[in-house]
Amino acid sequence: MSAPTVGVLALQGGVREHQFLLEGLGARVVPLRTPPDLLGPDGLRVDALVLPGGESSTIDRLLRLFGTDEPLRDAIRGGLPTLGTCAGLVLLARTVLDPAPGQGSLGVMDVAVRRNAFGPQLDSAEMDLTTALGPARVAFIRAPRVETAGPGVEVLARRGDAIVGVRQATATGIAFHPELTGETLFHRRLLADATGASQAA
Ligand code: GLN
Repeated sequence: MSAPTVGVLALQGGVREHQFLLEGLGARVVPLRTPPDLLGPDGLRVDALVLPGGESSTIDRLLRLFGTDEPLRDAIRGGLPTLGTCAGLVLLARTVLDPAPGQGSLGVMDVAVRRNAFGPQLDSAEMDLTTALGPARVAFIRAPRVETAGPGVEVLARRGDAIVGVRQATATGIAFHPELTGETLFHRRLLADATGASQAA
């Protein structure tokens, strides 16, 4: 397969760092804002999806404003390989704990996620994590944590007792930012999922 095309949701938040990392891994990156960015006459325009960090309540509001929420939900439920980082994890969650007023989510992963879960002292930190994909150097910035996960959800990473990485079917949600430290592990896995490869290149 030729280079996969990855749609990075570009309504708000840290888009460029994902783009830089993905292009470095050989992917083509397109910004996603409106439904036609995602869906063309012949079906999905992208092979994979990234939901970046940022402010989840703002991204949620803009998703609904542009009408992009429903097609995204359908695409992810339909098996589009997806990586959500930080606010992106919040958007994937079925339940958002401590939401902003009126905040919803895409609700495609069977997890309950608490926003800003690490408190003011610990809310931003760079660290080495042991993950199911291997060791990873990542950054936490006002990060959420997963409080409950359904039976179909695989835990990929913990920070202390807190679940900070999950996978369900083709969707992966991580509470941290690998793209800010240049950690390629999760993006390589996304591209491997997109191309149907069994291992990241
Ligand atoms: N605290 C933010 C939120 O709830 C997430 C922060 C981030 O994406 N770095 O949306």
